[in-house]
Amino acid sequence: GGAAEPPPRLVLDLERLTQVPSEKAGPLQRYAATIQSQRGDYNGKVLSIRQDDLRTLAVIYDQSPSILTEQLISWGVLNPDARRAVREDDA
Ligand code: C2E
Ligand code: C2E
Ligand code: C2E
Repeated sequence: GGAAEPPPRLVLDLERLTQVPSEKAGPLQRYAATIQSQRGDYNGKVLSIRQDDLRTLAVIYDQSPSILTEQLISWGVLNPDARRAVREDDA
């Protein structure tokens, strides 16, 4: 449902991201750092990313987008509202 609603924003908490052990968060830390560098956006506490980037990260982590989304929310690095983005995707 919900076709009339805009897709939720995907917002990474960059401060929490530095606190997650790098053996788990390393690929995401490098991915976020690359986007910051491409945008020249170094001063934010949060980083809005593209819906497509979540799919790319799911490939990197060898997980489905919905399972990766749950992991990132449980680490505290992704806004819980992001669940709505993958549900719409899976439908
Ligand atoms: P690009 O995709 O060719 O985008 C060029 C410029 O269009 C961006 O420069 C930005 O000013 C604008 N732009 C494109 N898509 C959006 C959008 O969804 N929202 C907003 N607000 N602006 C948008 P910028 O920001 O300097 O980025 C330069 C290049 O860095 C981009 O070229 C892209 O290749 C890469 N990049 C930046 N942010 C992301 C990201 O979140 N994900 C991915 N996959 N690539 C990104
Ligand atoms: P919002 O999307 O809810 O973002 C709220 C605040 O989170 C932003 O306030 C900014 O301080 C921070 N933020 C979100 N994403 C990023 C990010 O990728 N990098 C950094 N450095 N900070 C981020 P701000 O900048 O005062 O913007 C207020 C509102 O203005 C935003 O609310 C959004 O609705 C709009 N806005 C700002 N930039 C863009 C943009 O590039 N595209 C669109 N469509 N709206 C924008
Ligand atoms: P936003 O700036 O509010 O853009 C919301 C949606 O509008 C984007 O979702 C995308 O579908 C579309 N859009 C906005 N600008 C462009 C554009 O120049 N070209 C194209 N092809 N589509 C555009 P998306 O891609 O999921 O991005 C979500 C948010 O991530 C954006 O919200 C923005 O805050 C950030 N973002 C994504 N890519 C870039 C980028 O290249 N540069 C910057 N500075 N921010 C980006």
